[in-house]
Amino acid sequence: MKKVAFYTLGCKVNQYETEAMTELFEKEGYEVTDFDQYADVYVINTCTVTNLGDRKSRQMIRRAKKLNQDSIVAVVGCYAQTAAEEISQIEGVNLIIGTKDRSRIVEFINQLEEQKQQINAVGNIMTVREFEDMKVTAYKERTRAFLKIQEGCNQFCSYCIIPYARGPVRSRKPEDIVEEVKSLAQNGFKEIVFAGIHVASYGKDLGNTNLMDIIKRVHNIDGIERLRLSSIEPTTIDEAFVADALQLPKLCPHYHISLQSGCDETLKRMNRKYTTAEYRKVVRRLRENFPDVAITTDVMVGFPGETQEEFEKSRQFVEEIGFSQLHVFKYSPRKGTPAASYSDQITPKEKERRSKIIIKLAENSEKRFLEKFIGREMDVLFEQQLKDKARYYEGLTTNYIKVIATSNQDIHGQILKVRLNKIGKGCINGDIIK
Ligand code: SF4
Repeated sequence: MKKVAFYTLGCKVNQYETEAMTELFEKEGYEVTDFDQYADVYVINTCTVTNLGDRKSRQMIRRAKKLNQDSIVAVVGCYAQTAAEEISQIEGVNLIIGTKDRSRIVEFINQLEEQKQQINAVGNIMTVREFEDMKVTAYKERTRAFLKIQEGCNQFCSYCIIPYARGPVRSRKPEDIVEEVKSLAQNGFKEIVFAGIHVASYGKDLGNTNLMDIIKRVHNIDGIERLRLSSIEPTTIDEAFVADALQLPKLCPHYHISLQSGCDETLKRMNRKYTTAEYRKVVRRLRENFPDVAITTDVMVGFPGETQEEFEKSRQFVEEIGFSQLHVFKYSPRKGTPAASYSDQITPKEKERRSKIIIKLAENSEKRFLEKFIGREMDVLFEQQLKDKARYYEGLTTNYIKVIATSNQDIHGQILKVRLNKIGKGCINGDIIK
């Protein structure tokens, strides 16, 4: 039996696409193995959001060829889309696919076995208008299913390479989403996470639907207990959205609302389409209506021209909002984006310093959020057993608190009531009471 191994970099959308490609190989009779094992085909699903993603992608290409000199190495995804030429020059690369045509990967591999000549299948993504349907019916070792509902982004934030790597907004047809959710529910998945490159844009290209419509359509599917949105924009959460959300008990009170900067001048240069005042209003609206809501976000430090004063404004805003979780990114210039050519770049040392300040702030604000729930009884969807600790299981509340509890039985995939007792590192330890 032929073997295939995957290595996935980057975001949830990439992970979804790897799962979908895995199913395609399995259908063709391949056995899936770990990336550090001998395989006939190695697939590296790349990322290009930062320089680090590019570097790691190149490293994995070399590692694959070392494991089996005769293997077929396929490089796919965002980095492949934006640097196809560069990748084609790396020794040992047999197949390059960008962010479209990954559904044809097995076909390309078969073709390669016959013609033994590198295939570069990367085309112009900016002219693609159709959503490429790739299905996932099961996830290994997971009880939450990420479901890609949308592709591409039309926002063109000045630092971001993604619109060039993924192309314009394309939404998946509502009936295809419903069908996939039904099959995931039949396979025992209780939570669905809507993922996409710019989920907030869902439906914009279809014209007759939007994000809330698709949430409503999926909400009543039997077996699905929770729906979560992976990342949205502040502008999505208007009064109508909140009024609808109040009627949808399965929609998790957890919103990842990308901030990037808490300073209006910086936001403007980033070409982000909201102000801090609007952001604040949205957070207030959510907290008034969903008292347990978790607001998580991403913050970028060291964007070109971010003065000390601007950084300080951003820091104060982050502190004021009090996020339950926050990811900090140091700005990394991406070739081809406007911000990469701005003259007032911030030094790596200064970016590091700012990053540390925000990380510290994030830790404190996460702790404050968790403290509010000590003593409470909450429903936890248990996702996995801790690797090094038998009897210890890890799961999530609807508002994205990681909970660890012990059990003598296998509780993987179950939603159980847990009393939350003590704060651990980025989690709460609790006792199962039901
Ligand atoms: S919204 Fe901005 S940061 Fe997000 S993918 Fe689109 S261009 Fe990139």
